Amino acid sequence: MKIQGQFYPEGGSQCLLAEVTFSQSGALLLTVTEQNISIQLSRDELQIKDKLGSIPREIMLSGQGLLSVDSTPETDLWLGAEKKSNRLANIESNRSMVLLSLILVPAFLYAFFKYMIPGFAVHFSEYVPEYAVKIASEHTLYSLDKTLLNESEVDAQLQQTYKDNWQDTLSQLTLNDAHYNLNFRESDKMGANAFALPDGTVVVTDALLTLIDNNEDLLQAILLHEIGHVENKHSMRLIAETLATSLAIDYFFGDLGGMIEVFAGLSNTIVQNQFSQKLEWEADNFALEQLQTLGLDPESFAKAMEKLAATLPQESKLDALMQSHPLMKERIENARGRK
Ligand SMILES: [Zn+2]
Repeated sequence: MKIQGQFYPEGGSQCLLAEVTFSQSGALLLTVTEQNISIQLSRDELQIKDKLGSIPREIMLSGQGLLSVDSTPETDLWLGAEKKSNRLANIESNRSMVLLSLILVPAFLYAFFKYMIPGFAVHFSEYVPEYAVKIASEHTLYSLDKTLLNESEVDAQLQQTYKDNWQDTLSQLTLNDAHYNLNFRESDKMGANAFALPDGTVVVTDALLTLIDNNEDLLQAILLHEIGHVENKHSMRLIAETLATSLAIDYFFGDLGGMIEVFAGLSNTIVQNQFSQKLEWEADNFALEQLQTLGLDPESFAKAMEKLAATLPQESKLDALMQSHPLMKERIENARGRK
C-alpha cells in the first residue's frame, strides 16, 4: 500500500512530504525524493502511537524522526489500531460519550465552584487569626478615609447619642466579642450606605442618616444587618473563596494562557455575585432574628430596605442575576413575613 505522509526528520523543524509504502511483509519504506531520503524499517523498529478518534496516526521512526499519516481503515489495519487502544479510540469517537462528557465536565466544574469552594471558605474563615483581621480592617478603613470618605458633618452630640444607643442594643444581644464600634462619615461617592469591616468597625454615611430621616429604629435594623456580615465572617469567606477560585482555575486549566485570564475574571464575578446574594440573605436573617430578640418590629427593617430601594434603579429579574444584592423587593417581603 502506497500513501502520502508528513515526515519530521529528527533534530530539525522541517516538515517534508513523504511517500510511504506499507508492505505485506511488515516493512515500512519512506522516501522523500527531493531530499534524497530513503528509509526502510521493520515493524519492530517503529513506535506506533495509539489511535485517537480520526486524528492522523503518528509513528516514531527509531532515531530518524516522526511520520504522520492519515487514519484510514487501511493504514489502521497495518498499524494495528485494533489491537491496543481500541477502547480509548471507541470512547473518543463515540458520540454519546463525547456528549456525556460535554455535560459532565461543566457539571463537575459548576459543583466545584458553587459548593466545594464556598464550603472550604467557610472552614478557612474560622482559622484566620484575630490580629490579621484587625490589621486588614484598619488598613481598609485608612485607605477608604484617604479616598472615598470624609469626616462626618453630623452634629457630634447626635453622633454620640447614636453610639450610646447602639452600645445599649449590643449589650442586650449575645454576640462574638468583636468590638462593634460605630463610625460616621460623609461621602459623595458612596451615597446612602453602611458597611462593616471584618473586625466589627461599622461605618454609616451621613446620606444614609438623611435617607432614613434619622429614624433610630431603621438605623438599628441596618446596623444589625451589617454586623450579621461580621458575625458570619463574610469578608474572610470572600477572601478565601477568591483565593481558592484562582488557585483552582490555575490547577484545572494549567497553561491555557490568555483564555484563562478571561475565564478567571468571569468566573470570579459569577461565583462571587452568587455568593454575595447568599451572604446578603444570611445577614438579613441575622438582623431579623436579632430584632425579634430585642422585641423590635421587623417592619423597621422592611422600611429601611424600602428607603434604600428607592435610591436604586428599577430592578428586573436580570438585574438580580447580575447584581451582588438580592432583589430588594424579595428582601422586604422576607422581613414582613417575619411578623
Ligand atoms: Zn449586606
